[in-house]
Amino acid sequence: MMKELALLAFAGIAFASEAAAEDAKYVRERAAMVETIQAYAQIDIGFSGSEGISADVLEAMRQTKRHLFVPERYRSLAYADRPLPIGHDQTISQPFIVAQMTDLAEVRSGHTVLEIGTGSGYQAAILARLVRKVCTIEIIRPLGETAAKLLEDLGYRNVSVRIGDGYKGWPECGPFDAVIVTAALGHVPPPLIEQLKVGGRLVMPVGSAGATQRLTVIEKIAPGETKTRVVGLVRFVPFTRSPD
Ligand code: SAH
Repeated sequence: MMKELALLAFAGIAFASEAAAEDAKYVRERAAMVETIQAYAQIDIGFSGSEGISADVLEAMRQTKRHLFVPERYRSLAYADRPLPIGHDQTISQPFIVAQMTDLAEVRSGHTVLEIGTGSGYQAAILARLVRKVCTIEIIRPLGETAAKLLEDLGYRNVSVRIGDGYKGWPECGPFDAVIVTAALGHVPPPLIEQLKVGGRLVMPVGSAGATQRLTVIEKIAPGETKTRVVGLVRFVPFTRSPD
């Protein structure tokens, strides 16, 4: 009996130290990912004259376990700076693009933010570390449900996930200090601008799916008045519409 207990305890320690070694590996991989993001941002500064990605956003990227948001068979690639398939023909975005879009949205701790295109839930998790409330909409039910469960299991209490077409936004959750759209469409859905507060920003890939799109920042400067700038070229999955 004693021997069995001792063996069980030993197995427990071995398992715990394996898990700790894996955690340490992921911590190192995340640190390397953040360095890559910073390096890309430096190159970008040369082009755009912007100030690089804020320390808060980089810290959120360093803390968030991307390997839990990708399918198990892609876990070894979780911290490579590349998009990965998440099923249903969709992808989790490249980490640099997630960091860049979050930075461009200029989110602050008191903010309420809308995301269209929950996908894996990774972008929502990054936002959840930075703002008060995240509302995110996903059109593919199984993806939205999986993301909602994962976010809940991981203890993200300030994210609400809704299944549906995000074109019309989510007025009951807003108004929003920022909106991030993670799927490509040829125009910005007007309801999303309406639900944005004055002074708020919407970040979205504008252009046809299947080609490169213009990563666009729209600032609402007054009711009915916006200022638009294009900050780069990106490639996103299509923004689809539900028939109704
Ligand atoms: N932000 C996600 C990226 C997901 S890819 C992440 O961090 O993993 C874009 C997602 O947008 C896909 O899951 C796709 O199903 C979803 N999508 C496309 N059109 C949509 C729409 N009209 N409303 C809501 N979600 C949409």
